[in-house]
Amino acid sequence: MSKKQSGFSRRDFLKTAGAATAGSLLSARETLGKISGTSGSELAVVPTRPFGKSGAQVSILGLGGMFDIPSNQLVLRQALKWGVTYWDTADCYEGGRSERGIGSFFAKYPEARKQVFLVSKSDSRDASGMTRLLDRSLERMKTEYIDLYFVHGISGISELDNSTRTWAEKAKAEGKIKFFGFSTHSNMEGCLLDAAKLGWIDGIMMTYNYRIMPKTEMKEAVAACTEAGIGLTAMKTQGGWSFGSSSATKLVDTFIERGFTDNQAKLKAVWTNPDIASICSQMPNITILMSNVAAAMDKTRLSAGDLRLLDQYAKETASNYCAGCSNICETALGGALPVATVMRYLMYYESYGDRHRARSLYGQLSAEIRARIGSLDYSLAERRCPQGMAIGRLMKRAEQLLV
Ligand code: SF4
Repeated sequence: MSKKQSGFSRRDFLKTAGAATAGSLLSARETLGKISGTSGSELAVVPTRPFGKSGAQVSILGLGGMFDIPSNQLVLRQALKWGVTYWDTADCYEGGRSERGIGSFFAKYPEARKQVFLVSKSDSRDASGMTRLLDRSLERMKTEYIDLYFVHGISGISELDNSTRTWAEKAKAEGKIKFFGFSTHSNMEGCLLDAAKLGWIDGIMMTYNYRIMPKTEMKEAVAACTEAGIGLTAMKTQGGWSFGSSSATKLVDTFIERGFTDNQAKLKAVWTNPDIASICSQMPNITILMSNVAAAMDKTRLSAGDLRLLDQYAKETASNYCAGCSNICETALGGALPVATVMRYLMYYESYGDRHRARSLYGQLSAEIRARIGSLDYSLAERRCPQGMAIGRLMKRAEQLLV
């Protein structure tokens, strides 16, 4: 693809990655300035897409806020300059420091608030708890409204009911939120399909990546939400563990030849689906932000061969990836253990290297659950697991690593 067609050449793209590796803000800005054909002070920005039928336009790359934002204000400032205006946080992230960090930023740059599509989440499910957490989020972030407010991490639509709808309508009428929805890491397809039937869900953030997006169930769930006008945000787009297998090495080598890193290719795979409005990505430093912005601004499309390579890699490494279909393994265990949740904490520990968060979350499981994790018979769950995961071995690993 020519430079004219793609917006910038592969060589420019690799220069971008080099600048990102060097971590120099100045060189990053200059490089992006070159690739976007501007001086660097008037950069092209990340493209936007409509967020369902809400009427809002959101940047296709969103800033995940699960990092020490008070100490990394520069990341927010640079994200804004590059057009990464979808910002995602939650009441619980970093014990409240994530929201407070955003509040510090808005206090210093009040004009920034209207540029940002701000998302936060409630771990509470009942009306009084949600009101308390929403008011706390507003106060922490020094804002009068949140654009999109989620119930955090549901596993089934039964976690929402008519009182949730009444609460959301009241919060909208009071001007505290503009849109309402939920996030989900488990049983995503069922949650999406059921949400599409409700008629009062504006947005959903769900686990979605090159491993999950080709599955028929997920395609149908996304189509149903699109038809219902629900805006969709993808998270966990890197697809979890890789463990340095030979297929992982091939993936890296092939995409470097094409002018991408494998991580950039995985983002681009998600953007191939126009029904995904935004990708929420944890970008705790300028290096990662720079690399992801470069991927978002590059117009080169993944080829059919690129997508086949990702699909082949997904198949070869399936047993290293928990697809979040917790109704399968947890039913096999009679509900004795939240397997997908523990798998996610293990992923935070091993794949993200975020040991503190992984251990902290694991420690919040009940003492009964932690006591039984090493003694359950996982054989039926393993036989039913569509990913072929060694659930028993991984649960024992979690027990050893996460205490
Ligand atoms: S362990 Fe297997 S069955 Fe359970 S949620 Fe993960 S992929 Fe699905």
